[in-house]
Amino acid sequence: MKKIVWLLLLGWLCLLPWETAEAIAMHGEWKYYEQQNYEDMGLDLIEQHSALRYDDPAWTPYAFPERPPLKAATRYVWLTTRLPTVVHYHHPVLFFTTTEQAIRVYIDNELIYSDGEFGLYHHTYGTKWHMVELPANYKGRQLSFQLYSDHAGRLGVVNLLSIDEGSRQATKLFQHDIVSWFALPLTMLLLVIVLLCYRGMHLNQQQRRIYTYLAVFLGVFSLWLVAAMRLIQILPVSLSVWRYLLLGCSYMMPILGNLLIAEMVEWKWCRAVRFIALVYGVIFGAVVVGELLGYTSMDMCLTFFYGWLAVSQPVAFLILLRSAWKGSAASQAFLVPAFGVPALGIADGLGAHFRLYQSPLYFMPLASVLLAYFVAWLLWQGMKEEKELRAMNDDLKQKMTLVRAEAQIDALTKCFNRGHLTETLQKSITIAEFSHQPLSVLMFDLDYFKHVNDTYGHDMGDQVLIRFAAVVRRNLDARHSFVRYGGEEFVVLCRGFTIEGARQLADHIREDVAATVLCEYQTVTCSIGVSGWQGASRDTAEMLLKRVDTALYQAKHNGRNCVSVL
Ligand code: GH3
Ligand code: MG
Ligand code: MG
Repeated sequence: MKKIVWLLLLGWLCLLPWETAEAIAMHGEWKYYEQQNYEDMGLDLIEQHSALRYDDPAWTPYAFPERPPLKAATRYVWLTTRLPTVVHYHHPVLFFTTTEQAIRVYIDNELIYSDGEFGLYHHTYGTKWHMVELPANYKGRQLSFQLYSDHAGRLGVVNLLSIDEGSRQATKLFQHDIVSWFALPLTMLLLVIVLLCYRGMHLNQQQRRIYTYLAVFLGVFSLWLVAAMRLIQILPVSLSVWRYLLLGCSYMMPILGNLLIAEMVEWKWCRAVRFIALVYGVIFGAVVVGELLGYTSMDMCLTFFYGWLAVSQPVAFLILLRSAWKGSAASQAFLVPAFGVPALGIADGLGAHFRLYQSPLYFMPLASVLLAYFVAWLLWQGMKEEKELRAMNDDLKQKMTLVRAEAQIDALTKCFNRGHLTETLQKSITIAEFSHQPLSVLMFDLDYFKHVNDTYGHDMGDQVLIRFAAVVRRNLDARHSFVRYGGEEFVVLCRGFTIEGARQLADHIREDVAATVLCEYQTVTCSIGVSGWQGASRDTAEMLLKRVDTALYQAKHNGRNCVSVL
């Protein structure tokens, strides 16, 4: 399983398109000019002269693509550089991304591109890619950006800026999203699997929580994947929606991730991890309330979010690691996404912050493969438990049948007991009624049995009872049910026997008993009463038993060791 995960990861990495060599990254000399506010800059300067000339002393050099060192109150900034002279493109296009900024692009004094409105406080522009066609004679001319943002930390940041052939720039949009094209269907498939398992499997309370958190996590991660795609920008939906979604999901994922960790670890550590999740929850709550009140809290709270991430996450991981070390299979399986997903997030975060990768791709969507590993483990575990449960159930059923049967068997003689008689007699009557077959009953009582007990002891009495049962049993077959009715009284149901047939059988057994040595010191005989079922219109089970009892009484009365029919 682990090998497959690694192969998939490597496979995807090979699929990823790396930056084309021809593009120019524009890391030349850059200068910035801080505009105090829209009004006192004077509209003249901006709209009539468009941009300051590159050699104007008002410009301050800075290290693009780092953010220029702006004052906290600054909302407008100009960035400028010279376009390269060395490369020739048929159809030169500028590609770059911005977050939460309105932008105007000038070549010398000519406005060639504009996006977003300037001076709209508390407006959200989202993270956006821009493709700006350059005029044919762009070489060596001055390129200027005028940027506005109410999000202090975002102002002046232009990412992934490059000039390239238009066609190649356009493919960047697809390159950026390519991992998500795999990751999104995979994540949604995982979500469906988890939901189906939740409905279909026998889960305990804790497993239900795990499946619930996992399903919500997968749902949130799917939304995150959608919101992080470049191509969604072409949908007729405000970019701010995607930005809220992206950040909202980022705030939520650690809450769910830690709730999941809490379910994997021992009870005494569970509360600590839940506390970590709670703090993420409080931060997320503050973000929502702040945004509703009109603050840019999505951005502002990122500091607390990353701070708490740095402080608390190592603790949660250590707790999980300890639990895995101690042998918890769930913790061991969850180590893969618990370490992998944040690692991918950190790789993306660091990559973006320090501009480590020239490529426009990001790693986070690969998290879906790590989640797939955990879902597969959960599924496998669930199926294993289900199988064990079924085996246990079958075993229990078998034992129950055995116990029930044993409950109807007399321990001494191994005959059925009286409880069984009531049930069997009723069934036999029903069968006799439906099949128009005769049914007869024999009732036995040992003669002078008290004497055996009194003279040779109770144990000898027991032996006689066991031997007597064996003698009777050897004269019976599948048509008979042999029941110990009382102390030394027995009943035999004879299905398919007429009274005459039953009488003959009774006599045969009586002789066999008398001829067999049941007790070494004296002969033991028995008396037998016989009666037959007389049809449902005239007879009942109670009447039949009563009759056969009377017949037995008559046999005793007739001098014992005989059969009496009634
Ligand atoms: P009768 O010929 O009139 O039937 O005389 P009897 O002495 O057999 O009288 P009865 O049928 O009333 O006696 C039943 C005796 O069976 C009484 C009791 O001591 C004895 N008995 C009942 N159950 C058991 C048992 O499980 N083991 C032994 N050893 N004796 C039993
Ligand atoms: Mg008796
Ligand atoms: Mg008796």
